[in-house]
Amino acid sequence: MPEKRPPFVAGNWKMYMTLPETRALLDSIVGAASDFHSAQVIVIPPFTALAEASRRLADSPIALGAQNLFWEDKGAFTGEISAPLLVDIGCRYVVVGHSERRQLFGETDDTVNRRLRAALRSGLVPILCIGETLEERDAGRTLARVRTQIQGALEGIPPEDFRKIVLAYEPVWAIGTGRTATPGQAEDVHAGLRQKIAENYGKDAAAYAIILYGGSVKPANSFALLREKNIDGFLVGGASLEAESFISIVKEALKAYKEKA
Ligand code: PEP
Repeated sequence: MPEKRPPFVAGNWKMYMTLPETRALLDSIVGAASDFHSAQVIVIPPFTALAEASRRLADSPIALGAQNLFWEDKGAFTGEISAPLLVDIGCRYVVVGHSERRQLFGETDDTVNRRLRAALRSGLVPILCIGETLEERDAGRTLARVRTQIQGALEGIPPEDFRKIVLAYEPVWAIGTGRTATPGQAEDVHAGLRQKIAENYGKDAAAYAIILYGGSVKPANSFALLREKNIDGFLVGGASLEAESFISIVKEALKAYKEKA
């Protein structure tokens, strides 16, 4: 059994941040890194800022991630980015199956599965996003929905590869809306996900799995969320675009982590 799962805080910058903005934000985050202790902090800039971010983060404990990847390693796929190219530029993590990609760009559990496999093949750690819509929640189908997403995304992925995957539960109704799941609502789903992992991969895999929460995380709600037993960190969108709020979230997460049994 793991002693304690370390807290993870990942900032998804989405389609924001020019190069000067990237430099300024990263200088502040790197400057605060000595306070991050056991937390794994990850920044996930747009593709255009990855090279600059990679240089800025060299020799810092902060890891770099990308927001998406294509499932082929190379070839005539204009406009796409492969796992080997992300590794080459210094990424360790990649977001897969974000709800904005599922809703706006036609991602399915099958394409998410292909992307996961591609990431794993190249040694990237996928951050696999799942979450229900408001209609699904109101219809009492939250757990059924996320279980189906997990089943589809992880199809054929063996236990030794599952260990390299980070999960992110992100209720679609909470992303960018200012409406956060209550700690209790989030914990219920995280516990259900751990149960599903235990069914697929066994109790040990479930105990070790890192499961992040995402959806309007702010400094004010991060302590209460991370204090929940099955919440291991955050995927943060809007609040990761400003140094002060992002750094506060990391500090609140660490405070909550220390209080966990
Ligand atoms: C996200 O982009 O994954 C996200 C959770 O966004 P926000 O924090 O803005 O809701």
